[in-house]
Amino acid sequence: MPTATLPRWNMDVIIPGLQSPEFEQSFKQVSTGLDELEALFDQIGVDKRIETATESKDVADFEKVVAKYNAVTEDLRTLNAYVSAILTTDTRDEVALARDSEMDQPLTRLRKLGKRLTAWLGSLDVEMLLAQSDVAKAHAYALRKAVVGAQRLMSPAEESLASDMEVTGGSAWGKLHSNVTSQLIVALELDGEAQTLPMSSVRALAYDPDRDRRRSAYEAELMAWKTVEVPLAAAMNSIKGETITLAKRRGWGSPLEAALFGANIDGETLEAMMTAARESFPDFRRYLRAKAKALGLGRLSWYDIFAPVGEDPKEWPYDEATGFVVDQFRTYSDKLGDFARRSFHEDWIDVEPRAGKVDGAYCMGVRRDESRILMNYKPSFGAVSTLAHELGHAYHNLCLSQRTAMQRATPMTLAETASIFCETIIREAALQSGTEQEQLAILEASLQGSCQVVVDITSRFLFEQSVFDLRAKRELSAKELGERMRQAQLDTYGDGLDPEALHPYMWAAKPHYYGRSFYNFPYMFGLLFGLGLYAIYEKEPHGFHERYDDLLSSTGLDDAATLAQRFGIDIRTPDFWRGSLDQIRGDVDRFERLTSV
Ligand SMILES: [Zn+2]
Repeated sequence: MPTATLPRWNMDVIIPGLQSPEFEQSFKQVSTGLDELEALFDQIGVDKRIETATESKDVADFEKVVAKYNAVTEDLRTLNAYVSAILTTDTRDEVALARDSEMDQPLTRLRKLGKRLTAWLGSLDVEMLLAQSDVAKAHAYALRKAVVGAQRLMSPAEESLASDMEVTGGSAWGKLHSNVTSQLIVALELDGEAQTLPMSSVRALAYDPDRDRRRSAYEAELMAWKTVEVPLAAAMNSIKGETITLAKRRGWGSPLEAALFGANIDGETLEAMMTAARESFPDFRRYLRAKAKALGLGRLSWYDIFAPVGEDPKEWPYDEATGFVVDQFRTYSDKLGDFARRSFHEDWIDVEPRAGKVDGAYCMGVRRDESRILMNYKPSFGAVSTLAHELGHAYHNLCLSQRTAMQRATPMTLAETASIFCETIIREAALQSGTEQEQLAILEASLQGSCQVVVDITSRFLFEQSVFDLRAKRELSAKELGERMRQAQLDTYGDGLDPEALHPYMWAAKPHYYGRSFYNFPYMFGLLFGLGLYAIYEKEPHGFHERYDDLLSSTGLDDAATLAQRFGIDIRTPDFWRGSLDQIRGDVDRFERLTSV
């Protein structure tokens, strides 16, 4: 098996083991740092003030607090990354489990101090502070954001009560959803045999190549959701009701306004992006029709969306993948190519799948300009693409390495910029060199993904908004939730799918509706922003690289629209987003050509 030779990451250069004296030393350093930071907060009185004012003493205090806060955050980041790296490569490791649990304490302490800092900053005269302090200027965006954040808080007593009640309110309803869903057993007939499977396994059958199996799973799934629709509707009504109440009491215009603030974008930007997305639906429907044709169907049903098309014909051994990634990154820049080489040479990537290791893939910053990437490599193009995606995140961390911890706080909307960009470099290269079969497989994977991110996420957005609208007046029945879900799917997928075979229970299946509100649109922003930058690079590569690195290094320094403006991009008008979607339209054209032969 070639997997035996797949590399693991090197964590020993960070700390040589969870039971080493170096680990004890690092843990002690973090604890002492937190003690000192707490003492400093108490001594200065870093808390919400009765009256807004900035005295000359506050400037010096502010600089002291920020320096210490950034330093402690940095130490804690490395320690926490180290523990979670060890744990995620072996979740059965008893020592790692204990260490991971020990991390709760310092993390909670820092979170509490962060809240105190926001409340304090919110009661300082920030503009006066900015005029007097270079440290303040370097953190201007975080400061101004803290001011707005502090204004959108209820009184400390009310906030504290809200936090306590959340445990038995929204979080409890969310837990109910997750418990009911994970324990739901579905009865179905597969290949003429009666079976009972957990809901997650039944939903995974959406990827089965056999249409009868996909349909059986879909029909059984809908019937099973019906049996639990009453508690799930109660959970949805309660969570959305609580969100509306708290948003109103905190002075937000709507739950959406609060979500936009968290994502560092405004309503105009969202509207511009959504307008361009709507315009692209006819193109996604062309893709769905071409896919139906490739599968020998008149029209796709909901249960065909994830059906495989053709076969992925090319094997990608890991060595070939790393060579390909370095070569293609180098067509963009030597800096990017060298960076990928460095990450392979210094063993930043845990490539090998093995028992006890978590599924999927992630990238995390560890210290200074160093990251670590976890993945589970299979010799397919999908894994090459994941490798490029995660290296994009690591490159973003490289660009952020000169920033302080507070300056690095990147919102979800901008966090996928470099990963999508790197993924696109690799996809375009593979499409150019691949056979028609290979191209078809690559395009199908890519379009299936972007159809989810653009079309399905719009349907989820429309649904959530319509639920909030009605919930502001009264509760919704399970039937009404289903009708709204179905309508949102009709408005987005349109005639791309059989209207008689949609999924009126997606509101029950998706956990996102039971947590933070409007969880999804930042993903659409991330994909389209990365693609849009790639489109600009293709059109005008001259002078692009420096501006791109500068943008990546600034993702915590301003709101998305201001950062894009520096690039000459206006994300508040649909044009930029249209350019991103043109990339996808080009892929749909190619996909249609390949499936029409
Ligand atoms: Zn990512």
